[in-house]
Amino acid sequence: MVVHKKTKIVATLGPSTTSYKTKLKMVKNGVNVFRINFSHAEHETVRKQIKQIRKVSKELNTVVAVLADLQGPKLRIGKVAKGTVLHPGDKITFTTKNKVVTDNDNKTLYITYKQLPQDVFPGETILIDDGKIQVKVLKTNKKDTVEAKVVEGGALSSKKGINLPDTKISLPALTKKDKKDLLFAIEQKVDWIALSFVRSADDLIMINEYIRQHSDYKIPVIAKIEKPEAVKNIDKIIKQADALMVARGDLGIELPLQEVPLIQKKLVHIAKLHQKPVIIATQMMESMITNAIPTRAEVNDVANSVMDGADAVMLSAETSIGNNPVKVIKQVTKIIKQVEDSELIKVPEIAPVPEHRDERFISQVVCFNASKIAKDVSAKVISTFTASGFSAYKISARRPAADILVFTANKRILNSLALLWGVVPFYYDKMLSTDDTIRDIEKIACQNGYLQDDDMMVSVLSMPISEKGMVNTIRITQV
Ligand code: PGA
Ligand code: MN
Repeated sequence: MVVHKKTKIVATLGPSTTSYKTKLKMVKNGVNVFRINFSHAEHETVRKQIKQIRKVSKELNTVVAVLADLQGPKLRIGKVAKGTVLHPGDKITFTTKNKVVTDNDNKTLYITYKQLPQDVFPGETILIDDGKIQVKVLKTNKKDTVEAKVVEGGALSSKKGINLPDTKISLPALTKKDKKDLLFAIEQKVDWIALSFVRSADDLIMINEYIRQHSDYKIPVIAKIEKPEAVKNIDKIIKQADALMVARGDLGIELPLQEVPLIQKKLVHIAKLHQKPVIIATQMMESMITNAIPTRAEVNDVANSVMDGADAVMLSAETSIGNNPVKVIKQVTKIIKQVEDSELIKVPEIAPVPEHRDERFISQVVCFNASKIAKDVSAKVISTFTASGFSAYKISARRPAADILVFTANKRILNSLALLWGVVPFYYDKMLSTDDTIRDIEKIACQNGYLQDDDMMVSVLSMPISEKGMVNTIRITQV
């Protein structure tokens, strides 16, 4: 049996999770979505991983989503000799011209990004290796060389990432590499795509257009919020994105660390207002990369994300390169369940009451009121039938106490629903009468442990029953 909880877990794949058995145990213990980080992944490896995930899903008879996370416009330095250290006050040079190897005597750093000298201005900060090393731009020849002074020094090694928090980078949102990875992800039928370093709503319009051109159906896109510009433009970004990720790793490099907690709260709030899923990411169980138990602060971090009503928490290095990914998942699930089972904690409902001018107003009113009725009758289950997933998003956004069982005959959206708070997706393609359908799903809900004798269920349906119909009906039944 797979563990049941409302808050979902996204786990990043990597060298620690290559075996089928590990993935199986991870799903059994609470993973709903596997993330492939295309900053590091080889296509051939990914192909095998996805195959395994689909098999795990079949073996456990549970829905699991695959998330393809594109690197986006991430900058990196070139080769560095072992033992190289930068000291405060050192003058260093970035070059886009020659592929030099940096060492202690030669303080020239090669960078592949040709536009760097044109993009930066004197006084701007360049961060190397997750902000561990800080340099200030002194001069740029606007062609191929940037001179800078080290402010915060440290050991330097090859291929470390670079962040430019002050600079408007002219790299496109989708790099050549991203396009290649995206085509591969489409071919592999991934369920979600995440775009890193989103800056504006246009970035999402562009990736959606690219998906439209290369996929015969819409794959939902997560906007990773990890740049100051994205935080500024969030009201427009949320309209074009299908979900948000609070990408605290890079966010905490590009903005002062102490601003991250409030930005996290703000992003969760905005996502819920727009009834779109939100993922809290990075360093949630960081110490468990090597340790067997998390720190108290980490336990609090996960618990608070659950209390705030995030759809999912994400693990990165903890599962991709950590010592014991299964242990991490067990630990996170324990924390989630403790909070969810508590009488004290009620996840806040922020989504607005539907209005006449809203899209699919009738369906929205039905979903809104189904959640209200479910509360009034203390229903254990809200069930819905959906072709597009619309009603699943709308009911999940209400954060009801009841479990949300979502039935769909649309294989293209089925797995993606695994990310949504409280949603349990089922493949269902029978076209029975309303009465027979209700009886049938009641049976499925009982078999899967969501309903027992005398329990109440609120169902959201379209009548007459049709494959494409919008929900327009609420039905209340007792087992
Ligand atoms: P990453 O994104 O792990 O792909 O960098 C998450 C983050 O920056 O927090
Ligand atoms: Mn990032």
